[in-house]
Amino acid sequence: MGREETMMVWRRLFKRDEPEPPVTAPTLPPTAPTLPATRRHRRGDIPVARDPETQRALDQLRRRRETLVFDVERAISATQPDNLWRERIDLLRDSLASVEADLAALDQEVGVAGGLPPATPIVAVVTTADAPMVVRFTIGGESFEFQEEIDWDQRGGPVVRGDLRQREGDVARLALGDLPIAQRVGLVQHLGESVLVFATDLRDRTLNQEPLPVSATLTDLARPCPECGGWRDWGGTCAACARRAFRRQSLRAEAGRLTKEREEETAEWRKWAERLPIARRRLADADAEMAKLTG
Ligand SMILES: [Zn+2]
Repeated sequence: MGREETMMVWRRLFKRDEPEPPVTAPTLPPTAPTLPATRRHRRGDIPVARDPETQRALDQLRRRRETLVFDVERAISATQPDNLWRERIDLLRDSLASVEADLAALDQEVGVAGGLPPATPIVAVVTTADAPMVVRFTIGGESFEFQEEIDWDQRGGPVVRGDLRQREGDVARLALGDLPIAQRVGLVQHLGESVLVFATDLRDRTLNQEPLPVSATLTDLARPCPECGGWRDWGGTCAACARRAFRRQSLRAEAGRLTKEREEETAEWRKWAERLPIARRRLADADAEMAKLTG
């Protein structure tokens, strides 16, 4: 099969977006040396050479021939419509399609829309300077308290500033105005994360001897996210957008890996399909050489 023909078979096998013509096995040249020679040279059938030097050459040739037979078999399988490469490429294509569908679904995903909490002032903001640090504030009568967890090192001193643990307060008890249930559930969940971000900021400001915010309100803990329609926390981060960005990044990495693998598999298949004529010639050469040595 010439290079052009190989390429045509190739294109036909890989063009998946066009209606595929029925795939037929590429016809092998009728004179193609298939592998009857293998049988002739099976262990036991091989004539023993008269002198040790010829015997060594024969043994060497026989080993080379085994490799060449393997090459020819592999190359022939690459010219068949059903082969291992094709199978793997199909699997990779399916995986890639499902990753791409996930990516498309991710782009369609929107956050829980709207629903701003009232501008209830956050008052009585107190932070203690001693370890473990305590942060307190009140929103609309609901008191919140966070305490720093202490990590002790083995010599007995606190070395790492731990995370804040919430000890008091429940965002579900805050007056959030009249909201549809889905928005309310989403908002309560968001506020649960945002009060922790707020408390951590108060702790950090105290440590850095920066002034504490004086006129923060509940609205500041749930600003609308212009990207997804959800909410941004006190630090300006939208958790839903961050989660989506992370997921998108992982999916793109996965798609890249699958594409690369598919390209490698395709190149390998092509390499073997194109190697057939030369693999056959080498096998024929080896057979001829063997025949010469054994008379
Ligand atoms: Zn968002």
